[in-house]
Amino acid sequence: MRKIFLGAPGSGKGTYASRIAPKRNVPHISTGDLFRKNIKEKTGIGIKAKEFMDKGDLVSDDIVIEMLKERIENEDCQNGFILDGFPRTIQQAEKLAEIADIDIAVNMCVPNDIIIKRLSSRVICKDCGEIFNTLTLQPKQEGICDKCKGKLIWRTDQEPEVIKKRLEIYEEQTAPLIIFYKDKGILHHVTCNDLYQSPDEMAQKILTKIEELANNI
Ligand code: AMP
Repeated sequence: MRKIFLGAPGSGKGTYASRIAPKRNVPHISTGDLFRKNIKEKTGIGIKAKEFMDKGDLVSDDIVIEMLKERIENEDCQNGFILDGFPRTIQQAEKLAEIADIDIAVNMCVPNDIIIKRLSSRVICKDCGEIFNTLTLQPKQEGICDKCKGKLIWRTDQEPEVIKKRLEIYEEQTAPLIIFYKDKGILHHVTCNDLYQSPDEMAQKILTKIEELANNI
């Protein structure tokens, strides 16, 4: 099944997708992670994307669509995928509809105060991209990734001004996708209004919902 996780930056899409994808045997595809990998490897895409990302802007549609298209043509996507952070504009959603049929769009509903607290306390592994949080999801060893022992770092787009801009861009350009997928009849909401709810518990709640929906398709 092909699924999309929608929600504001900091709503937990990536954290939940990384837990649910292995249980559904599909890849978790995060366009943010793909860009960070390109930046680390100093590829042409990475050099172009960094400029936008550091300012909190969206990378241009043509760059992200091309990168995503190439990724979902991989063999590991034959049985489906979970998209996290794509689409982020109506143009991306329209393009996606041309290349893949989406079965389920899950929208994470999270209050703004929780989002801001989460975003300002998030750290990620420099090597594998695993997400931790200094308030709610601390690594076993401070500053070290539980999964691969890589170093945990702050993301460059977590300055308060950049967070504010990312949330404004979400409202303007990404939130309209809620109506887009509602009109297609595939939108489902999941609410998380407890900052301290464990990511595993929340991921399980979403997985149960997805499994129910999958049985009805
Ligand atoms: P994320 O890890 O999903 O929060 O994405 C980090 C940053 O990568 C975003 O703030 C954008 O600059 C860029 N980005 C990720 N996905 C997209 C997308 N679908 N369209 C445009 N820019 C994106």
